[in-house]
This record gives sequence, C-alpha cells and structure tokens, in this order.
Amino acid sequence: MQVKTQPDDILNYLTDASNMPGGHAERLFIPETADEIAAILRDANEARIPVTVSGARTGTVGGAVPFGGWVISMERLNAIKSIDKEGRRAVVEPGVVLADFAKAVEAEGLFYPPDPTEWSCQIGGTVATNASGARSFKYGATREYVVGLTVVLADGDLLEIRRGESRASESGSMSIPTPDDKAIVIGGPTYRRPNVTKNVSGYFAEPGMDLIDLFIGSEGTLGVITEIELLLLPRPQGFFSGMVFFKTPSDLMWFVDEAKTDSLATRSGEGHKNVSGPIDATLIEFFDDRALSFIAEKFPETPANMVGAIFFEQETSAETEDELLEGWNYLLERCNADIEASWFTTNEQDREKMRSFRHALPVAVNERVVRNKQKKIGTDMAVPDENFSGFLGFQKKMLDESGIDYVIFGHIGDCHLHANLLPKDDAEAEKARHIYGRFVAQSIMLGGCISAEHGIGKLKSKYLYVMMGERYLNEMADLKRAFDPKNILGRGNMFGSE
Ligand SMILES: Cc1cc2nc3c(=O)[nH]c(=O)nc-3n(C[C@H](O)[C@H](O)[C@H](O)COP(=O)(O)OP(=O)(O)OC[C@H]3O[C@@H](n4cnc5c(N)ncnc54)[C@H](O)[C@@H]3O)c2cc1C
Repeated sequence: MQVKTQPDDILNYLTDASNMPGGHAERLFIPETADEIAAILRDANEARIPVTVSGARTGTVGGAVPFGGWVISMERLNAIKSIDKEGRRAVVEPGVVLADFAKAVEAEGLFYPPDPTEWSCQIGGTVATNASGARSFKYGATREYVVGLTVVLADGDLLEIRRGESRASESGSMSIPTPDDKAIVIGGPTYRRPNVTKNVSGYFAEPGMDLIDLFIGSEGTLGVITEIELLLLPRPQGFFSGMVFFKTPSDLMWFVDEAKTDSLATRSGEGHKNVSGPIDATLIEFFDDRALSFIAEKFPETPANMVGAIFFEQETSAETEDELLEGWNYLLERCNADIEASWFTTNEQDREKMRSFRHALPVAVNERVVRNKQKKIGTDMAVPDENFSGFLGFQKKMLDESGIDYVIFGHIGDCHLHANLLPKDDAEAEKARHIYGRFVAQSIMLGGCISAEHGIGKLKSKYLYVMMGERYLNEMADLKRAFDPKNILGRGNMFGSE
C-alpha cells in the first residue's frame, strides 16, 4: 500500500468534475486489499479522522472532494475477478474502470448496461452513486445489476451482503449481524421516494427493502465498497441509432411521446397498441437549440436552425432489423422530423461518433464553466411524467428571461433533463443560483426529486434538506449513525458540514 503526505502527491485527489474549490487532506492511502482498508478505517475511527473515498473523481457534486482528514483511493483495487459467461455474472473490485469492464464483458458476448456517459469512472463510484444515464430508459440504473457487495464499515468490520439475504421487516427495521457478533440495528425510515423513474436524492428507502439497496447510492457515507457482484445481460446483436433534428418544438415532443409510449408498450407486452410496430428504444436523449449551437463548435456538421434534436437507440438482430427500421422511419415521418438533415447508423463506428457527440456536450459545458472561472450550476431534477412538459416550459421561460447563457439536454425518456446555467461573472452566478433555487422548489412542488443521477455530494446537501425536511433528514442521519457513529465516512456528503 502506498501512503502519501506530500501536498504535490495529494493534489489530484482534492477535486472532482464539480471543480468544487477548497479540498484538502493530510494523508492519501492507495491500498491494494480490503484488509488494508479495514486497518486504515480502524485507525481513523479510533482517532475520529474523517475519511473520504476516492474513485475516479468524475462525480459532479463534490462527493469525492475531501475537506480534511484522510483520502482512500480505490485505484489499485482494480481486478476483474471473474466473468461467468453461462451464469451472466461478474465479480469485480471497485477500482475497475467502467470502460475496461464493458470491453471485457463484451469480449465474452455479454453486456453491462449502466452508462453514465463518463466511461472513465470506476465501478465502485457508480455503485456508490447508483449511476445511471441515457440507457437507463430501457435498462434501469446501476442498482438493478448489483447482487452482491463487500463493504468495510467505519470500525473496520467487513460486511458481506447478498441481494435477497437481508430484508427489512414490515415496520422497516433491520438487524444486521457483524463479524464480532454484535448487531447493527436500524429503525425503518418512514419517508417515501417520489414517483419518478430516477432518483438518487438521499438513502434508498422502501417497505421491506433489501439491505444492499441502502449501500447502493450511499455516496461513501456508510462504508467502503471493496467488492461487487454484478448481473450481466446477453450482448445485443446490433443497434440502430439515430440523431434526429426537428424544426418545431411540438413535433419534437410528439416524437418523444410516441417513441416512449410505443417502447413501453412493447416492453409490457401491449405492443399491439403501437403506431410504429415493435420499436423499443434503449435511450431517448434530448438536445435543445442552444445545446446544438454550443456543440456545433466541436461538431461543425451539426445542422443549423433546428429547435432541438433527439438521439435514440434501438437493439436489433438480423431477424428484427428491417421491421424495426421501418417502424422508426414511420414514426419519424409521422412526427415531421427533418430526415434529410438527420443521421442514422447501424454500424459500431458511426454509433461511437454519435455517442461522442452526446458526451462532448457535458464536457464542453464543464470546460466553459472552468473558462468562466465559475462554479457549475446544473440541474439534475426529475419530475413525474404528467408534470414534465410544464416543468420544462417553466425552466425555459425563466432562463430566457434571465439573459444568462444556458443549455438544456439529457434523458427525456426518463423525464430527466440537465439545465446547465453558464454564468460569465459573479453577478450572473448569483442570479443563476437564485434561478436554481426556484427550479428546486418547483420540482419538489411537482412531486419530483432534486437529483436523479448525480447524487447529492457536498454541493447539493442544502437542497436535500429542502426536499426531505428536518424529520426525514433526521431519519437518514439515524441510519448513518447506526453504521458510522463517529461520522468519519464521507463527511459533508448528503448532510452538509454541520
Ligand atoms: C462529462 C460527465 C458526464 C456525466 N454523466 C453522468 C450521467 O449521465 N449519469 C450519472 O449517473 N453520472 C454522470 N456523471 C457523474 C459520474 O460519472 C458518476 O457519478 C460516477 O458514477 C462516479 O464514479 P467515480 O468513480 O468517478 O466516483 P467519484 O467521483 O470518485 O466518487 C463519487 C462518490 O462515490 C464515493 N465512492 C467512490 N468509490 C467508492 C467506493 N468504492 N466505496 C464507497 N464509496 C465510494 C465517493 O466517496 C463519492 O462520494 C458524469 C460525469 C461527467 C464528468
């Protein structure tokens, strides 16, 4: 294990993709085994030293940014321990990089769906944040694929959790045996999650919930994840992808509605209701007009004068390809997409180009934020289906009136968009924070959540307070205290520094 204390050696571990300033730490550990992590935590717990777990630091809410104490980097726990082709399962250490894992799995004819756009993140980071992304529209978030976890608790105890083995009682309480024959007893949280398809705002809670679900999305506050068992799917034979441009907002929204309704009907077995045959999108992504202008700087082939674009993908096989292409074509014509200007592909190379186009946008946004020397102000809210278009209209109106630069893009299939405000100076930043606060209030009022995929980290803890309220945040704090009574893990994440 490497231990570093020189400021220069630690520097890279003091920030993440949020560019949150002020990170500092006294010591950096780069362990190679779970036992080493257990020893570090025993010492830290004894001395009440805060410990921040560091993955690939692609997080956008400062979760991996330390404010004092020790940092444990997971980069050396990076073995893919097994891939069971027949059983479609894999066991990995948390430091495995998502892109490497996806490649290894594909080589076995398998497929790991979670796709948080940024492929340089670690599997451990994606579990700790319950990452999701474009493909969640069909395949769900990381949670759906996690069947086993090994976690080192704050006092150094190792907890092995298998899905299905530890469930909460009817009242929601749970007793978790620990290796030293003590039990961690937790009372059941009584808060309920909003009725949205994606939500990572606070600890997971559900009547009769599985213990494993409490750790997924717990943002390094309940334990250090040291091993993960994942479910895999068979690799689809092929994909049909389209980047489709529209000239009117109503046509674009019509296309989204139809593509979504038909995809969900196909999945539920009610495909006979479909106007477009058995289409079943894996993702439906949105770019507004400003996002297109913004990205045209990097991709000059982006057509001009469009109100927005939708990126979709569809699994195909030799038997289904013709019928599916026909279905999508019918839908595109029906909804007046600008087919001439749009891009379509069934080959992997061009599909990669479309994915780069999608990825280039959040990267360019982050670059602009750095250039403007401002903090990123980006929404990650999701609202229930029935409130989605009203919420989008509310956001667009406020943003247009503000005069601040912005782009809106994201996972429209899941009613989850990112409105990124790009203030140029401190005065605009102040105004942008005010607008962000209005969006938070509106999302909560419409039954939505403040974070659908990026998590709370340190940057959004005050908004979690607004969403949960004192009582439910206290219930979350009770859960945290049961596992980490001295509050050493992920200090500042979710609960803020107080
Ligand atoms: C351009 C860009 C686009 C993005 N798009 C998406 C998106 O579409 N969807 C999405 O979900 N995210 C997205 N993200 C955010 C990010 O990629 C994810 O949050 C990712 O899952 C974090 O992984 P990481 O390894 O970088 O974790 P880090 O950023 O290092 O850490 C994230 C949190 O997890 C904790 N943690 C890390 N490893 C462990 C562990 N082994 N045990 C316990 N706690 C741990 C950390 O303490 C921290 O709180 C995007 C980021 C960028 C830069």
